[in-house]
Amino acid sequence: MISLSQPPRTTDALRTFRSGVRAFVQNEFAPNQDRWRQQQFPDADAWTKAGAVGMLLSDVPAEYGGGGGTFAHEAVVVEELTRAGVPLHSFIHDNVAHYILAYGSEAQKRHWLPRMARGELVGAIAMSERTAGSDLQGMRSTARRDGDHYVISGAKTFITNGWHAGLVCLAVKTDPKATGPKAISLIMVETKGLPGYRVGHPLEKIGMHAQDTCELFFENVQVPAANLLGPAEGKGSFQIMDKMSYERLAIAVAAVATAERAVAVTTKYVKERQAFGKPLIEFQNTRFRLAECKTEAHIARVFLDTCVERFVAGALDAFTTAMAKYWLTDSECRIVDECLQLHGGYGYLAEYPIARMWTDSRVHRIYAGTNEVLKEMIAASL
Ligand SMILES: Cc1cc2nc3c(=O)[nH]c(=O)nc-3n(C[C@H](O)[C@H](O)[C@H](O)COP(=O)(O)OP(=O)(O)OC[C@H]3O[C@@H](n4cnc5c(N)ncnc54)[C@H](O)[C@@H]3O)c2cc1C
Repeated sequence: MISLSQPPRTTDALRTFRSGVRAFVQNEFAPNQDRWRQQQFPDADAWTKAGAVGMLLSDVPAEYGGGGGTFAHEAVVVEELTRAGVPLHSFIHDNVAHYILAYGSEAQKRHWLPRMARGELVGAIAMSERTAGSDLQGMRSTARRDGDHYVISGAKTFITNGWHAGLVCLAVKTDPKATGPKAISLIMVETKGLPGYRVGHPLEKIGMHAQDTCELFFENVQVPAANLLGPAEGKGSFQIMDKMSYERLAIAVAAVATAERAVAVTTKYVKERQAFGKPLIEFQNTRFRLAECKTEAHIARVFLDTCVERFVAGALDAFTTAMAKYWLTDSECRIVDECLQLHGGYGYLAEYPIARMWTDSRVHRIYAGTNEVLKEMIAASL
């Protein structure tokens, strides 16, 4: 029987790590969610506090300030945040670290990773623009080489962690004449006190209200040429394709944790709520719907755990990662919607966790490659 609180891949070390993260998230983050939602971003010190307990860069080598763990540690962090209903996107921050780890120079790693691990430098990934979402080739932001610097102009939208971002992994066109993937490069931008850089107010979303999603503006922003990621310009598209798998798998982890949480809170609810003189669970329809949801969540967990194991072993291909992100987030939304229905009108009230799960989970099918784009990608492997 699958446990809803301890996925089967767990070990003693991971169990200890999980209990520390769980206690911290429950005590430090969960009680602040109403306030975070109102201000539309987490407290700035949420990041340094998370860093202090080892929740950030848990799967980055210790020599760069990380926890020295694997993606299994990252999954624990994502699961515990999800189960507490805290939409802090530390996996995006951690993904930025993995771009640096994979493609940065030794000097870049030592310069940025320890501060990221401590939460002093919050990471964001800025690719999307108004004219470029699924089709990143449509981006218009440019970086022009001028001596020892790049001069960056353009605007990005939908940027997770944008409000606090101190280090932006920015996708830009470095060669305006080039067409196709070779036009794009990734440049790391340290934003603190940077002339010409501006953050828009967090965007009004239908869910994830406690999490900052912002527009970023660059007006002739100068950054050192040494901030280019990789050995040469024009490698950005390849780097994105490679490291997007990390983000997609982290979203799949959140999807399964949400589905399991939805089944758990709904099971409790239907045992307590009465209609026609008996608890809702005594209606066959309730039992059958929940049985279906629990079965689907179980299948999702087995698929996910296989993917995580293969990812940790360096053996998960991009197509299977795309399958995991697409299928597990579709499944999550099916389950959460069914569970909301079993709550009746209370499922529509924001104070009930299932309502927030419904609005928060919806974006999982959209970002990091929409599920339609991912199906095209999977189809390319046929
Ligand atoms: C809350 C939130 C957080 C985000 N965080 C970030 C972030 O941190 N960094 C970042 O860079 N971006 C971020 N994004 C942007 C996100 O990645 C894009 O919204 C997503 O890639 C889709 O792009 P689009 O919104 O421009 O939609 P479009 O590309 O305009 O797509 C519209 C519709 O057309 C479909 N479509 C498009 N192309 C195809 C195709 N080839 N085949 C079939 N169907 C297709 C899509 O599936 C979709 O249904 C975030 C978005 C949201 C909502």
